[in-house]
Amino acid sequence: MSERQPTSDVPATEQQPVNAERLLTTFLQHRDVLCPRCGYNLRNLTVPICPECHESISLRVDVQPRPIHWLLIALVPHMFCTGMAILFLYFVVREGFPRMRATEALTTYAMLLSAVVGVTIGVFHRRFLRLKPDLQILFLVLTLIAHVILLLIVVNQV
Ligand SMILES: [Zn+2]
Repeated sequence: MSERQPTSDVPATEQQPVNAERLLTTFLQHRDVLCPRCGYNLRNLTVPICPECHESISLRVDVQPRPIHWLLIALVPHMFCTGMAILFLYFVVREGFPRMRATEALTTYAMLLSAVVGVTIGVFHRRFLRLKPDLQILFLVLTLIAHVILLLIVVNQV
């Protein structure tokens, strides 16, 4: 992992040391911010300690958590197929590989492929979450279309 140096017009030797306590109290002067521990309103805090629960308070830079709803929605049909694949493999181990017509074999292999894709996405979910939302939505739409087609083929077999 590479470290990036802060960029500034002022050379590092001339920068003032950051006074974290002053930054915190200045930040809280005109803002209603609740203590993460007890919910006490920290507006006008003069020391970096919550007056209610006496927890140390600090100001920090953080990243927004990535939304996971597209991932969860995309995983639903894959997890269903994973469950069906586990059941199928159980019966294959117990009773041998069944004789299947071409469409049954096609849907069975599609279900197994969906299970593999679902497990792969589950394992590499962080990479999925790093994709742009447009790509996540595209993947979701393609997943849903593929599974609706698979479902229609299965329903027509019955
Ligand atoms: Zn508190």
